[in-house]
Amino acid sequence: MTVPTPTPPRAPRPDAPPPRTVVLLSGGLDSAVAAACARADGFEVHALTVRYGQRHAVELEAARRVAAALGVASHRVVDLDLRAIGGSALTADLPLPPAAASASAGAGPAAAASAVPATYVPARNTILLGLALAHAEVLGAADVYLGVSSVDYSGYPDCRPAFIEAFERLARVATKAGAEDGVRFRIHAPLQHLTKAETIRRGLELGVDFSLTHTCYDPAPDGAACGRCDSCRLRREGFAAAGVPDPTRYAPPATAQPATVRVLELYRTLQGETTFAGAPCVIVRCSGCPLRCSYCDTAYARQSEGLELSVEEVVRSVAELGPGIVAVTGGEPLAQPGALALLRALCDTGRTVLLETSGAFDIAPVDPRVRRILDVKTPGSGMEEHNRPENRALLRPTDELKLVLVDRADYEWSRELVRRERLAERCTVLFSPVHGKLAPAELAKWILDDGLPVRLQLQLHRLVWPDRDRGV
Ligand code: SF4
Repeated sequence: MTVPTPTPPRAPRPDAPPPRTVVLLSGGLDSAVAAACARADGFEVHALTVRYGQRHAVELEAARRVAAALGVASHRVVDLDLRAIGGSALTADLPLPPAAASASAGAGPAAAASAVPATYVPARNTILLGLALAHAEVLGAADVYLGVSSVDYSGYPDCRPAFIEAFERLARVATKAGAEDGVRFRIHAPLQHLTKAETIRRGLELGVDFSLTHTCYDPAPDGAACGRCDSCRLRREGFAAAGVPDPTRYAPPATAQPATVRVLELYRTLQGETTFAGAPCVIVRCSGCPLRCSYCDTAYARQSEGLELSVEEVVRSVAELGPGIVAVTGGEPLAQPGALALLRALCDTGRTVLLETSGAFDIAPVDPRVRRILDVKTPGSGMEEHNRPENRALLRPTDELKLVLVDRADYEWSRELVRRERLAERCTVLFSPVHGKLAPAELAKWILDDGLPVRLQLQLHRLVWPDRDRGV
């Protein structure tokens, strides 16, 4: 591959006001350094942040902090929700990839990974640069900076030199300023050929405070980085390779979990609920639950002790039961400290892992690869006071929210909750009628009459195996 020479900055006349530039500022480490480079190159920096449907608002807060610390001339935040298009683990109902081996943070281009990761957002940089170009044209700026690197993230085609060069050519013919006024737009990617470690060193030279930046794909509710995702791994390795302390605030590592769980049933069936209904599935039913829902159909799981199995034994048994998704359910799995280790171990096998949980326990420590099916207990359940509202703030597009409804009062309560908290914009919301108490046809009519963006969920196993209560 031919490596093009980075575009040198224009030299402003000594008596002229500094030329303007637009910098795409995400709040991450790289864009902060790119903005500092623009400032060091003598530009008046106008930062542009795009709220494109990122999983976390923490990143946008970081962009505001970085912009303020750099003393930019302006900082604009534009909403353009790419979740309407999806296609990425960052903007759609796709699992985040686990931290995986890829290019070494301190290595050169030859060591870079070549596969496009699931965190690639289709055409993101084309779209973001388009917005930056528009902003630049309005500001009378001819320069745009962005913090892409083709070294650590060479899997992303829109981080490569060929893309940057092509966009620069496009900018000159696609704008009035370029086509009629002869403005020669320039796209600066000052980190293009730097490793993460080199970027960090460059940022330190320019006075970037990296504690203000944020890169984690899966931060804790208080904004602490997870320390496990691919983005955290690259960042950590970058600081280590640069030989400087990493100022990132990482969530404390999970305390050692007992490597056992009490299991009541382990069997293969068709998944009966969730958007995976009908798919071959291995069920791991944990025993015990502190709740007493009025409609509970798994009282046996609450009352029985089950069998204490090591995480390794459960993982082995799941493997022996054949392929497909695996659902860890109960009872209440999260009532057992060992459930976290089990979920992590099941994810490590590469399967799609579902967790069905009552909503009475903190879901934050659950492995981010798990698809969490979170109950919200309605008044009719008699367990409403056990709901943890803070769990709802943690919902991701890969999660599902389930409300089991006893009657019309439950429906109206749930409808108001969904509307008030705009839950259907966060993840799939399931309304499930209690068997024998609320007719599905009635619930369907209410949903349709109200135009509520939720899914009617029927318990498939009750339809397929109406005379069996267990093992289905
Ligand atoms: S949370 Fe689930 S297992 Fe526990 S009582 Fe309610 S329905 Fe039963």
